[in-house]
Amino acid sequence: MAKVLRCREVGVDCDFEAKGDSVEEIMRQAEKHAKEDHGMDSIPPELLEKVNKAIHDE
Ligand SMILES: [Zn+2]
Repeated sequence: MAKVLRCREVGVDCDFEAKGDSVEEIMRQAEKHAKEDHGMDSIPPELLEKVNKAIHDE
């Protein structure tokens, strides 16, 4: 089953969604997206926690 993470679900007004078969795969996409589209050099720990909770099975 695919997993999905939506930017909106971590409290960001953004339509990005990452899909993948593993949390690692989603985190890779999320990090890239955070960097390219939100100008974050890295994801802060408190956001990382939200991201981990927001990842769910599609
Ligand atoms: Zn976003």
